[in-house]
Amino acid sequence: MDEYLQKLRSGALKLYALEQALPAAEAVAVRRAYIEAETGVALPTVGAYAISPDRVTRRNCENMIGAVQVPVGVAGPLRVRGEHADGSYWLPLATTEGALVASVNRGCSIITRAGGAEVRILADRMTRAPVFAASSVGHAAEVVRWVEGHLDLLAEAAATTTRHGRLVGATASVAGTSVFVRFEFTTGDAMGMNMVTIASGAAAEVIERETGARLVALSGNLCTDKKPAAINVVSGRGRTVAAGVFLPDDLIRDILKTDAASLAEVNTRKNLVGSARAGALGFNAHAANVIAALFIACGQDPAHVVEGSLAITTVDPAPGGVYVAVTLPALPLGTVGGGTSIETQAECLSLLGVAGGGDPPGEHAKAFAEVVGAAVLAGELSLLAALAAHHLARAHATLGRG
Ligand code: NAP
Repeated sequence: MDEYLQKLRSGALKLYALEQALPAAEAVAVRRAYIEAETGVALPTVGAYAISPDRVTRRNCENMIGAVQVPVGVAGPLRVRGEHADGSYWLPLATTEGALVASVNRGCSIITRAGGAEVRILADRMTRAPVFAASSVGHAAEVVRWVEGHLDLLAEAAATTTRHGRLVGATASVAGTSVFVRFEFTTGDAMGMNMVTIASGAAAEVIERETGARLVALSGNLCTDKKPAAINVVSGRGRTVAAGVFLPDDLIRDILKTDAASLAEVNTRKNLVGSARAGALGFNAHAANVIAALFIACGQDPAHVVEGSLAITTVDPAPGGVYVAVTLPALPLGTVGGGTSIETQAECLSLLGVAGGGDPPGEHAKAFAEVVGAAVLAGELSLLAALAAHHLARAHATLGRG
């Protein structure tokens, strides 16, 4: 240890190069000791972790010094009636927000008592949109026409880079001399951002070669990755999912302690009118809360909560109750790749029965997407009901205060 600390101090060894000189676990320990000595801050708890650093230091996190632990609670069972997920599920929720797990649990309870959430995947398309420079607006229009007529050539180039990724669409948009080509891929069980970015690189080379437009950046922000954007609401990104349930009046009264008309009014005035007045892109109560907790537990890229937050919650009056639904236009998620194989995260995916690649490929990711949709519905229902019954502040005071 001392020898390596000395080398780091003298500059003979770079902090990021420790894994080249030592096994991963030792490299992480030396780096942590170096940072502790440099800053005078002890990190014993960050250094006490159960996951294996071997793969993580190669695939997930550079300059690793340890791990932060986020508590995982369980909500459920949640009855899901999807085309890929059909059964009862215990939801692993990683959160530090007191009252969140309890709230989702209550939503699971009413959905399950009502017979389960019906869930459907409406679209399955991960996107990447390179930006090209054309020489004039006329040239830009030519590039658009060429792209529209040559999806087959672009798909062929993309297919040379991946077994599971498939280019299924390309839409070109122009702003002056900038041409954006929004590629759409199916990605099997992967969330697909690396896969699609590499494949888009191969397709972009063909566009450069055939049209003379210059590739400026492989991501031109029309993708749109990890930023709130109307294009993701309108056209979708990743999996597009809808989940709904009919709630009869007696269940609304017994479990949610409110009534159908109050639920519908809160949804209209808060989720629809309030969100519109705020200029929001998401028309929901707290979809991001449930998505963040599931994503952190299950090894997803947490920055994709931005896309997840674009959900729309609707409450339709129905004879003898209400039909409540959430529509998630953009849910980037996967069961292979990214952080999904880190041991703790893989265990949480296993709890849902969707760890690793599905048979056929894509089946696990679709089942996971349906479970996430139903879980968001549970969260929406419970919070809407708490607001309708004026219980929200009380729950947080009891469960969320230090
Ligand atoms: P990935 O681990 O880079 O790619 C998935 C890998 O799994 C591919 O090598 C794929 O092989 C393989 N695979 C095996 N079985 C599969 C199956 N059943 N379905 C699909 N693929 C299967 O993961 P990714 O989802 O593409 O990217 C996720 C990572 O991207 C996350 O860490 C995220 O944070 C990061 N990210 C990257 C960018 C970016 O611009 N690069 C942006 C945002 C996030 P084949 O390709 O041969 O099919």
